Amino acid sequence: CESRAPQHEPPHAKSHIKKVIGVVSGKGGVGKSMTSAMLAVSMRRLGYKVGILDADITGPSIPKLFGVHGPATGTDDGINPVKSRVGIDIMSINLLLDDEEAPVVWRGPVIAGAVKQFWQDVIWEDVDFMFVDMPPGTGDVPLTVFQTLPVDGIIIVSSPQELVGMIVGKAVQMAQMMHVPTLGIVENMSYAVCPDCGKHISVFGESHVDETAAKYGLPVLAKMPIDPELAKEADAGMIETFAGDYLDGAAKAVAALLKK
Ligand code: ADP
Repeated sequence: CESRAPQHEPPHAKSHIKKVIGVVSGKGGVGKSMTSAMLAVSMRRLGYKVGILDADITGPSIPKLFGVHGPATGTDDGINPVKSRVGIDIMSINLLLDDEEAPVVWRGPVIAGAVKQFWQDVIWEDVDFMFVDMPPGTGDVPLTVFQTLPVDGIIIVSSPQELVGMIVGKAVQMAQMMHVPTLGIVENMSYAVCPDCGKHISVFGESHVDETAAKYGLPVLAKMPIDPELAKEADAGMIETFAGDYLDGAAKAVAALLKK
């Protein structure tokens, strides 16, 4: 029965990981990877040791955001994550493939196996917070992540053009089945700022995130605008030097987990 408390797998013997946070979304393109990356950067700025496990095997975008490339090095003992400029440890399928552009055309069990290896065969060493960039939806791979890794909480990323109520409901229920708390919702692409007058424009119409969050008793951890500067830095692999602090508040909420 999937609703039993899962038996997690131990990580590599040399890994000491304190908290694991899953970042989930209903569909692709809402900024889940962007949120994982920016949260990691904000946590690093707070002084924590941070890792990102890119579990989005068929759509890996974490290495590109940080401008890091493979191949990751390894020995018989295990694989080393690749360090970003500010010292965030990253593991992604793109750091193991010879050709970053090659599509991953693997069946579900092989993909799930890769995610397990990222947990068990990667020598993460000391990590205070590990962010797991999940594939969108509630399929096979998120299930593997919940069953293999001791996830301490999930963050749901949504955008105003989605049926946010349904997406949040599904994610919360999946997490509940796996006995994992939902920490809150990040709404991305909430608005754009007029470059001339500074007015906030609701590009995708009125947001329903506040109602949905209230319905499930969850906090809205951040409302992040569509920011052309952010898109530019992300495209250039310079997410770590982006000056915006949109997710600093969300990072503080995550940091509180260590005090529990
Ligand atoms: P997902 O992981 O949900 O598929 P990504 O994080 O890869 O989505 O984001 C999709 C695209 O949108 C990327 O090109 C990213 O740089 C861009 N993007 C995401 N959030 C923002 C934002 N707030 N402002 C501008 N561009 C954004």
